[in-house]
Amino acid sequence: MWQRGGMLSFPASRPNAYTGSPLDRAAEKREDAEWIAHALRDPETLFAPVWRSRSLLRGLEDGAPEAVLLAGAAAHPLLGAGRGTGGEDASPWAFLGLWEQKPVFAVDVSHEDEPPVPEGAGSFSDLRQVAGLLPAGEASVLAHARGLMHWRVKHRFCGICGFRCEPHSAGHVMKCVNCQTSHFPRTDPAVIMLVVRGDSCLLGHNIRFPTPMYSTLAGFVEPGESLEEAVRREVMEEAGVAVGRVVYHSSQPWPFPSSIMLGFHAEGLTEAIRVDETELQDARWFSRGELLRHKELGFGLPRVDSIARRLIEDWLHA
Ligand SMILES: [Zn+2]
Repeated sequence: MWQRGGMLSFPASRPNAYTGSPLDRAAEKREDAEWIAHALRDPETLFAPVWRSRSLLRGLEDGAPEAVLLAGAAAHPLLGAGRGTGGEDASPWAFLGLWEQKPVFAVDVSHEDEPPVPEGAGSFSDLRQVAGLLPAGEASVLAHARGLMHWRVKHRFCGICGFRCEPHSAGHVMKCVNCQTSHFPRTDPAVIMLVVRGDSCLLGHNIRFPTPMYSTLAGFVEPGESLEEAVRREVMEEAGVAVGRVVYHSSQPWPFPSSIMLGFHAEGLTEAIRVDETELQDARWFSRGELLRHKELGFGLPRVDSIARRLIEDWLHA
């Protein structure tokens, strides 16, 4: 199909991880200070605590984790003295949106040695390790909270003049108290691509992979570069393969700490591989048959909840 120029829009086989948020972001509420102050005091309001980039989960030991959001008295200690004032920033917080009409906030409690959550509420864990086991909407909300809080705690000072920044717009803008510059949450685009040539696709074994696993190539988009150009440059840099057509597949938020993965299928124009050894230990063309027998052949593929795996599977089963 590929070779006949039927390139390719593979149907989305399933939603990517961290998508499908149940939240209405209700951005118009961010400027309504009175509504926000009321919501912060409302016992129905839900808080997603983030502690040192970890998310509050329970049920891990049973292999069926779920997100824990706190409300009412259980949530009081999270915001401490800064509760509802919007000014002081001991516990940075931001309004995430409405979940079935209930306001949801993220709050970062990293400054506490012991996170201020009730006994038995759950434990703080790295979302990336368990996202595939969580209900999709919950993974999305926790990723949203973690990404936004990462930005909040890293932008306490102005990148222009070095003075302190204060939160505005319910935690979505950090404004310098001196030069008045507004700083906004950032998302860094990264491209991730499956290069296909005939009946084979190009996968690499990254030097950082702990196991014999082969995955798609990926890299950050640079300033002044289109996504297609970034795909072609990364593949040339990492594997020495020239790429022709580039077709968008799907995207996946990757707020670890602040990226979005933009997935593509790309057409390999050349076959010879020249591996960039600072990035990859190995890169190879794999046939469909080899990928289908990967376990038998002794190598792994990316996690089933990754966009890398979806790019591979959607090509494999097209
Ligand atoms: Zn400034």
